[in-house]
Amino acid sequence: MASQDDIGIGDFVLLDEITVDRVVENLKTRFNGGKIYTYIGEVCVSVNPYRSTNIYDADHINKYKGRELFENPPHIFAIADAVHKEMKQQGRDTCIVISGESGSGKTEASKIIMKYIAAVTNLSGQQEIERVKNILIQSNSILEAFGNAKTNRNDNSSRFGKYMDINFDFKGDPVGGHVTNYLLEKSRVVYQQRGERNFHCFYQLLNGCSEAELNKLRLVRDPAAYYFVSNGSNNKTSISDRGDYKTVCTAMTTLGFSPNETQTVWNIIAGILHLGNVTFRLDDDKLIIENNSALNDTAKLFSISSKDLSTALSQRVIAAGGEVMQKTHTLIEAEYGRDALAKAIYERLFTWIVSRVNDSINVNDNNKIKRYGTLISVLDIYGFEIFDMNSFEQFCINYCNEKLQQLFIELVLKQEQEEYQKEGIAWQNIEYFNNQIICDLVEQSHKGIIAIMDEACLNVGKVTDEILLNAMDKKLADHKHYSSRQLKPMDKELEHRTQFKVKHYAGDVIYNINGFLDKNKDTLFQDFKRLLYKSNNSIISKMWPEGAQNILKTTKRPLTAGTLFRNSMIALVKNLTSKEPFYVRCIKPNEVKSPVVFDDERVNHQVRYLGLLENILVRRAGFVYRQRYDRFLKRYKMISQYTWPNFRGGNDKDGVRTLMEEKNFSNDVKYGHTKIFIRSPQTLFALEKARSDL
Ligand code: ATP
Ligand code: MG
Repeated sequence: MASQDDIGIGDFVLLDEITVDRVVENLKTRFNGGKIYTYIGEVCVSVNPYRSTNIYDADHINKYKGRELFENPPHIFAIADAVHKEMKQQGRDTCIVISGESGSGKTEASKIIMKYIAAVTNLSGQQEIERVKNILIQSNSILEAFGNAKTNRNDNSSRFGKYMDINFDFKGDPVGGHVTNYLLEKSRVVYQQRGERNFHCFYQLLNGCSEAELNKLRLVRDPAAYYFVSNGSNNKTSISDRGDYKTVCTAMTTLGFSPNETQTVWNIIAGILHLGNVTFRLDDDKLIIENNSALNDTAKLFSISSKDLSTALSQRVIAAGGEVMQKTHTLIEAEYGRDALAKAIYERLFTWIVSRVNDSINVNDNNKIKRYGTLISVLDIYGFEIFDMNSFEQFCINYCNEKLQQLFIELVLKQEQEEYQKEGIAWQNIEYFNNQIICDLVEQSHKGIIAIMDEACLNVGKVTDEILLNAMDKKLADHKHYSSRQLKPMDKELEHRTQFKVKHYAGDVIYNINGFLDKNKDTLFQDFKRLLYKSNNSIISKMWPEGAQNILKTTKRPLTAGTLFRNSMIALVKNLTSKEPFYVRCIKPNEVKSPVVFDDERVNHQVRYLGLLENILVRRAGFVYRQRYDRFLKRYKMISQYTWPNFRGGNDKDGVRTLMEEKNFSNDVKYGHTKIFIRSPQTLFALEKARSDL
């Protein structure tokens, strides 16, 4: 329950009337008054202000440090503090799940939380802890450089999912951490939609590095010279590539990247730029590589031989019946191979960077952490997105958002109601849309979209994307959340035979099936793996351990991209469920990145699909505060002569009941089997006041 700040209402639970319109109106009043945070109990709703504000300065940090949620106006700092307190005082692993659509402010929120935690810890100034804090914060700029890009929704859109554990010692100071990354949108390396850019790092390098470095990498400064980034080169962003290059280089130094490691990173980035300029043509049915200087530059930067690269780009080795043969690529295969190589190298580089970040923040003394350690985990993942053209990547990203919504439903709506039942408290059930049905549509074994895709990928014969779509249509014809042109010829939204529509919890998305099979199979010719394993640069070589394998050795078919992603999502949800969750729900106020436009309709839509109304109803029909009897007594026993200085018999529940009766609070509370439930915030204020007046 928040202390009021006079602009609108700080906690939705206190609204006089709970309707979507009133919720939107309150958000608007507060947004216009410069208040971007509002609570639903302990859930923080955040509206992207699209401008810099002074609400994150040292004064604000001091104001929220060590305070209870209800003592100050709503702020994400209060949530961060509550998380830190919970972790420190109760010794529980906590997690902060930040959700909301693309551009709603999730990544900013995660950075604000980390900065807050860094600011309120290590008061004794220990060097090692300062080092860890510094790395935790600086690792963001590296991960964003290689994992974020300008999209049509957000100039700094996360194109990977990030789950960061921060380990704390028994004093509550951060001693280490670990980053887990989820599916990077690697197709961006070779192709971007109109108005979008490749990953930031490419432009940072071209704009930021010195002439000498540029020469060493055989580059010219103009992005228009490189096919993979030429599309994005004219797209203005609010981002300063030049300045960011310096920041990233500094961060690499802070994280202890050796000069060789840093050089290898930029060599790979430059090598990919050159690789994109390698083109092919057919001359009398013979495949010719057209741009040999690009090929040579690529080979040099990857520390491999030009001849080997040229061979790997033009043909592949196939092993059949114990024999090894060469097969020359068709033009299409050669282009496919080149792009697959660029994407795979980039992806491996990204994975290497994440593990390199982890090397510098992994907790040194494992035993110490096991004994005392607790975690705060922060989840910042790509938000729900709808583009003009939606492909396999959007499908995965949106499925991921379904999973997070499902987690929210489980933890906030379902469990809350179950708790009342468990505690024996009379309760009127609140209806909500359960998106499990959409999760099933995607992930169910045998019947879900991922399973149908996998089956198509397993087929030895020539399976096309259209055949896949047919299979989906057949199996999913009756599903309420799936349709396609074939199933609904009259649906005006579905213009092409290659499209299918999924009714997501956050809106309908039309996907184009073209490319789904390839992206799910994610084939990279073995030749490239062997080639890079042979690199003279040991960092690159180590990124490709499977290149050491004998050609004739039959390898197990690797899991598909879809299945890997599904498995990682299921593991993520399991992990989050084991922690004490806190939520930040981000809202995007408009589509034009404006600090003054509040688009009622867009916000209305988000309030609906985020389930905020149901959240408020569950929270409000319920109780603003609940606590186990023992913990409640620990905090308030001193205000009653019945429980202080000596407890006059009975169990904890008796103690609490007598205390509350003595103070005349009994009308506002319910006594569950193990917990006391308090309905209104005023009672809580009064209890707190009685405690501080002593
Ligand atoms: P995606 O899902 O695409 O990664 P996101 O939810 O992570 O999106 P952010 O990158 O956090 O979105 O926010 C988009 C932009 O909005 C930021 O680059 C910044 O300009 C602005 N912004 C977001 N939150 C804040 C804030 N609290 N204060 C000031 N500006 C903000
Ligand atoms: Mg983001």
